[in-house]
Amino acid sequence: MPNLAVFIEQRDGALKKVAWQMISEARRIADAAGGEVWGVFLGPDAGEATTEAAKYGADKVFAATGDSFAGYNSQTWATALANFCRAHNPDALLVGSTALGKDMGPLVAAKLECACISDAVGLKFDGGLEVRRPVFAGKCFTDVTPTTPVSVVGIRPNAFVMEEKAGAGAAESFDAGIDGVDQKATVQSVESAGGGQIELTEAEVIVSGGRGIKGPENYELIEKLADAMGAAAGASRAVVDAGWVDYSHQVGQTGKTVGPNLYVACGISGAIQHLAGMSSSKCIVAINKDANAPIFKVADYGVVADLFDIVPVLTDEVGKIRG
Ligand SMILES: Cc1cc2nc3c(=O)[nH]c(=O)nc-3n(C[C@H](O)[C@H](O)[C@H](O)COP(=O)(O)OP(=O)(O)OC[C@H]3O[C@@H](n4cnc5c(N)ncnc54)[C@H](O)[C@@H]3O)c2cc1C
Repeated sequence: MPNLAVFIEQRDGALKKVAWQMISEARRIADAAGGEVWGVFLGPDAGEATTEAAKYGADKVFAATGDSFAGYNSQTWATALANFCRAHNPDALLVGSTALGKDMGPLVAAKLECACISDAVGLKFDGGLEVRRPVFAGKCFTDVTPTTPVSVVGIRPNAFVMEEKAGAGAAESFDAGIDGVDQKATVQSVESAGGGQIELTEAEVIVSGGRGIKGPENYELIEKLADAMGAAAGASRAVVDAGWVDYSHQVGQTGKTVGPNLYVACGISGAIQHLAGMSSSKCIVAINKDANAPIFKVADYGVVADLFDIVPVLTDEVGKIRG
């Protein structure tokens, strides 16, 4: 009967979708195996965190609020979460594998001297927790069983499907115990590599370009279509390895796992490692001039054509419709 605690991450008040994905998966496990699902929130005020967490099945939402949590500080936040775990003894603390989560999760585990499993893509409970994660740059998966009473598990965004299922969502506060914490370092400023672009893992629509775009100068075609659709711009690893776009755009096993409502793949063959990062998209549209390209096996809609003919026309037409 596992009690699973899920860290609800916010940045500047915006709540991260990965929290609802983790709560949905924890709910599915709790429904099958018993136990409770808890949300754990840190921030200046809880805002919508409690009601949103309840929507996806949280039984309780614990919050520690105040000015100390206005901005991220690894020592303060990790101390607060470690103190939460000491007081409430969850079987596992699930943390999104975001930039913040990757920084903070291992520190929480170090403070608790417990197991820390990063970049997980699967969870099971069968008498004990079993965590699936990719190894050897995504060539294989391994199933890991933590043996400490609590464990910190980093979960890849979009590894789990978000599903609304009402939970009690009882709001409780907890004592973060952060007075006198030696912060060691403070964050002075945060500069987004995306320059205000939509973050891939949070995007509802993604347009991605592959080697079929032929050169870095043509990635602009992908960005223009993405702009017209209000979408994020992604890329295959071939494009990133060639240095045509930054790694932050890479979708796939060694890039980002995405789960948008619509994924438009332009000039991407559909290698297994690319599919691993986007095949859970709700609707996949593929544009490729090779009718036998593997991407068409997962596509809901396929356009067998030269992307240099199709993408500019599509951009114009979408622009007209969306004004
Ligand atoms: C350990 C490991 C991890 C990896 N991780 C990732 C990962 O995270 N993400 C990832 O993407 N890959 C990853 N790869 C690489 C992956 O195996 C492929 O090599 C890569 O995805 C290919 O990218 P691509 O589809 O853009 O290029 P290609 O396979 O070269 O495909 C280009 C496609 O464009 C089409 N095309 C060409 N010209 C046009 C045109 N004018 N109009 C329309 N279509 C056109 C072609 O028909 C072809 O299908 C990984 C590989 C390994 C070994």
